[in-house]
Amino acid sequence: MDFKDKIRVIEDFPQPGVQFKDITTLLKDGKAFKAAIDELANRLEGKEIDLIVGPEARGFVVGTPLAYALGIGFVPVRKTGKLPGKVVEADYSLEYGKDKLAIHTDAIEPGQKVLIVDDLLATGGTINATLNLVRQLQAEVVGTAFVMELTYLKGREKIQDVDVISLLQY
Ligand code: IMP
Repeated sequence: MDFKDKIRVIEDFPQPGVQFKDITTLLKDGKAFKAAIDELANRLEGKEIDLIVGPEARGFVVGTPLAYALGIGFVPVRKTGKLPGKVVEADYSLEYGKDKLAIHTDAIEPGQKVLIVDDLLATGGTINATLNLVRQLQAEVVGTAFVMELTYLKGREKIQDVDVISLLQY
């Protein structure tokens, strides 16, 4: 399936000059959504993974069905102040600003093998902060997976030591 047909590109959102890749048009198409998750699951075949970790909000939308497909657990990473239990935090800069991400300290055991999942890799700021959180908990990051990758923003270079899978490249 050509997933690119299912992604809507919106000019000048959230600011002038940005071409926003809108995944909502893929998500509402049940066949395309399932095919995208199945394709990610296929590409991960044979990889040993204990848990998927996904940053809010679209990391939940892609990460949870993928965790279900692989029969493994899902751990949410949230903006600071949202998780109820004890957390560790990491600063990050976004394509459009700055923020802090958090994860429950007891969400992952040291040494567990973690796959980090989000809808889109842009500058790599979000994924790098998520990597930082997982590593603070002494877990092993075995890879990252995305539906879309904006290759011109060179996010891969921020996470050089980690495998990147993406279904679509722009
Ligand atoms: P990064 O931190 O610069 O890699 O940006 C990735 C994060 O920003 C992801 O969590 C995305 O959901 C969001 N994001 C950035 N650009 C876009 C876009 O064009 N479409 C959808 N999400 C985006």
